[in-house]
Amino acid sequence: MSVLNTKVLVLNRSYLPIQITSVRRAISLLYQDIARAVDEQYRVFDFASWADLAADEDTIGLVNRAIRVPRVILLLAYDRVPRRYVRFSRFNIYARDRNRCQYCGRQFPRAELNLDHVVPRSRGGTSVWENVVCSCHRCNRLKGGRTPTEARMRLIREPYRPQWTPFMTETFSLRRYKEWMPFLSAVDAAYWNTELVEG
Ligand SMILES: [Zn+2]
Repeated sequence: MSVLNTKVLVLNRSYLPIQITSVRRAISLLYQDIARAVDEQYRVFDFASWADLAADEDTIGLVNRAIRVPRVILLLAYDRVPRRYVRFSRFNIYARDRNRCQYCGRQFPRAELNLDHVVPRSRGGTSVWENVVCSCHRCNRLKGGRTPTEARMRLIREPYRPQWTPFMTETFSLRRYKEWMPFLSAVDAAYWNTELVEG
């Protein structure tokens, strides 16, 4: 893969990670003075000062010189905070429950899990974050069409609407560059703390 297509972390003016872009687009934003490059010491560079930095092992050739590949950029006029809405999807429910059956507490491969309505639909239970959990096939069969109380089964944790954003889940599946870490650690903390507090 060309280095121009590798990933760059984009921060808003508050240094919050908001998206991932390509090196190609990052350079273009930098060149147009829409963004600044950020190094590991949180120093900020415009295109000219970035291009003046000594090239390291990770460089791209531009016209007649090699410039260092930016791995983190800061948008100068972009204050939108990441969306708080998390799609109510099977993938995200499994992610919230970390592939753990919410009755027996064991982790399973995704293929061995299904979704369970805590209050069954036949009893008026709805398909919302607060009423749908991961369940293994065995627990699902044991519970049948009953509520947890009727089935004498306990949820290991009350289901909740997660606060993380699609951006955060996306970054978990990507290769992460070491240069991203200072900026992602706050997100990681929010991600994990949210789960603990919500649980
Ligand atoms: Zn189970």
